[in-house]
Amino acid sequence: MKSLTVVGLQWGDEGKGKIIDALADTFAYVVRWNGGNNAGHTVVVDGVKFPLSLVPSGVLRGKKLCIAQGAVINPEVLLKEINFLERQGYPVDLVIDSRVHIVMPYHSLFDEANEAWKGKDATGSLHLGIGYCYEDRNNRVGIRMEDLVRPKLLREKLMKILPLKLAILAHAYKVPSTLTVHEIANQYARYGKELKKYIGDVSSLVCKKIKTHRFLFEQAHGSMLDPVFGTYPYTVAPPTIASAVFPSVGIAAQSLDVLGVMKAYTTRVGNGPFPTELSGDIGNAIRASGNEFGTVSKRPRRCGWLDLPQLRYAVRLNGVTSLAVTKLDVLSALKQIKVCTHYLYHRKRVKEFVSQMAELSDCTPVYVRLPGWSGDIRMVKKAEALPETAKNYLKFIQKQLDVPIGYVSVGAERKAIISL
Ligand code: GDP
Repeated sequence: MKSLTVVGLQWGDEGKGKIIDALADTFAYVVRWNGGNNAGHTVVVDGVKFPLSLVPSGVLRGKKLCIAQGAVINPEVLLKEINFLERQGYPVDLVIDSRVHIVMPYHSLFDEANEAWKGKDATGSLHLGIGYCYEDRNNRVGIRMEDLVRPKLLREKLMKILPLKLAILAHAYKVPSTLTVHEIANQYARYGKELKKYIGDVSSLVCKKIKTHRFLFEQAHGSMLDPVFGTYPYTVAPPTIASAVFPSVGIAAQSLDVLGVMKAYTTRVGNGPFPTELSGDIGNAIRASGNEFGTVSKRPRRCGWLDLPQLRYAVRLNGVTSLAVTKLDVLSALKQIKVCTHYLYHRKRVKEFVSQMAELSDCTPVYVRLPGWSGDIRMVKKAEALPETAKNYLKFIQKQLDVPIGYVSVGAERKAIISL
């Protein structure tokens, strides 16, 4: 009985939430293992939108849920999300690893101040403090879930770290703050009281059960946002590639299936390189028809053609065993669809994304043109019923990436999915 990791193969927002929701029924547990509330998944059930930022996407299928230590939690956001879901009739059966780090109020102040300092080189962060929470984790001055249920220890840790944080903010960034230990300690101890019932040892739970239960491991963000293998420095703080699931959950490396989720085109939000970006009418048309605006941020996403060098790289890095192609419906109105098959770098053919970011600006994407299709495909239930040119588009992707396509999503609704 193999468990599965679902990973985004592009710059995030590939529609992982929808795919996880669609598959969750055949799994016992859904485990979120990286990122914070800057990474939202949207699931649409019978016209109702569920924006999920921390609760794993299996919640709408009544699955057992875990948040593993590789994720970070803003307790206020998590509690609001749990309340919202439970009010809608979806009980949240959740275990949070006691080692999970907590996003504190000073993290968002650092996030905003540091982005201002970076100026035109800003990462495009949402100022939610997620990266600064990971920074404190690495510097071993973070606050963990276990600290929220120990008010005395929490206060002691804050008395040590807060004066330094406030001094850096005031003197280095010129951002004075009125935060106090008393105020934060009281507020976070209150969160601790509410979250206490969820705290456990996810590492031990998964190790004990993975031989007898199927787990679906849910990644946030996308492969190209990985802090090492992504488009550094326009990346996120936690690792995002599939193999990071093992240390992020706290289980031994083992054989898992890896489902790579990719849009039928490419998007990215925030700054950073994007070789196949479209700036004119076609890019705007894709943005409008794909509703390409951030789930959390509402920012317009940058849109472009499919980039096979980028996808080959992501397939290799993640060890992808099957693909889910999403948002095929969004391309429906286009007469012609371009796909980047390789880059030209100083006249050399480059078939896979480059490892040196400085080379990327000298890479020119080379495209093939494929015929588009017309008509609404959102109600199509079987691959055979897709327009011939849409089938050819999928076959082309499958052949180029040398991985079978298992699912095609043709609309935001839960039911708009085709199994191949
Ligand atoms: P995630 O973080 O990878 O789960 O992606 P997001 O939820 O941030 O963004 C994907 C958006 O596309 C959401 O609003 C989904 O409801 C929507 N979506 C997912 N699959 C499809 C699809 O096949 N077609 C259309 N039109 N929308 C989709």
